[in-house]
Amino acid sequence: MIRIARGPEPAELPPVRARELARVRALASAGSLDANAVGGAYAVVKDALWKQQAMRCCYCERPAMECAYNDVEHFRPKARADRLDGTVHAGYWWLAWTWENLLFSCPNCNRSAKNDAFPLESGCVPLAAEEHPPGQERPSLLDPCEEDPVESIQFVFDGQHWQPVGRNGSTRGQRTVEVLQLGRPELLTLYGIHVEEQVRPRIDAAHEAIAREDVPLIGSAWRRVRGLLSPRMPFVALSFDAIHHFVPAPVRIQWGLELPRPPVRGP
Ligand SMILES: [Zn+2]
Repeated sequence: MIRIARGPEPAELPPVRARELARVRALASAGSLDANAVGGAYAVVKDALWKQQAMRCCYCERPAMECAYNDVEHFRPKARADRLDGTVHAGYWWLAWTWENLLFSCPNCNRSAKNDAFPLESGCVPLAAEEHPPGQERPSLLDPCEEDPVESIQFVFDGQHWQPVGRNGSTRGQRTVEVLQLGRPELLTLYGIHVEEQVRPRIDAAHEAIAREDVPLIGSAWRRVRGLLSPRMPFVALSFDAIHHFVPAPVRIQWGLELPRPPVRGP
């Protein structure tokens, strides 16, 4: 997961929001609101989100080469919110059409992993109905539009797999990994393929150039390594930690090889 910048709100969304809020507000006050009642009119911005996020899932960063069969994800869930203590609360229905609450996600992250989970830090005050974030609410999940997830999640090679974990003991990073199941077997397989097929060949070329002490060749090889951090690439956060792993800081310093922070993915 890397940071995401939303562009301006698409013009299609405000009229949908006005219409749907008026309809759903009445259902909420009658206590008869569920996901079906919220409906799916927010999908009017799905294509815009897909393009802005460079056709990547906001959480796992896998490629989504087609907009269809993927989801508009609500960071604050629209119909119900499940806390870590097992309690179930009403969802954030009033944010179901709010641009700042919407992301593009693969169905595996959205429906199978996160689903209705929205854990909060202990002691904070949840948003009241129709209150807008942040208020006094402190989510336990990282919002890639509000903070840089790379600061809190690290990919570590355990000898077999590249496992995402909380960086420097970050509990919010670890909790996000667990709730989004970023270490699920399917993703571990994709992470491994990405490192072997995309990262390793470029790293091997850089190591070969370093062994020859061929400065121009080192420079061109390193530019290809840094290309892994382009916002249009998949699994950028994984690439960042894999590069650190294969080319440690002393080697980079010795040869003047800069490794910038992963970029912001946006329009
Ligand atoms: Zn995903």
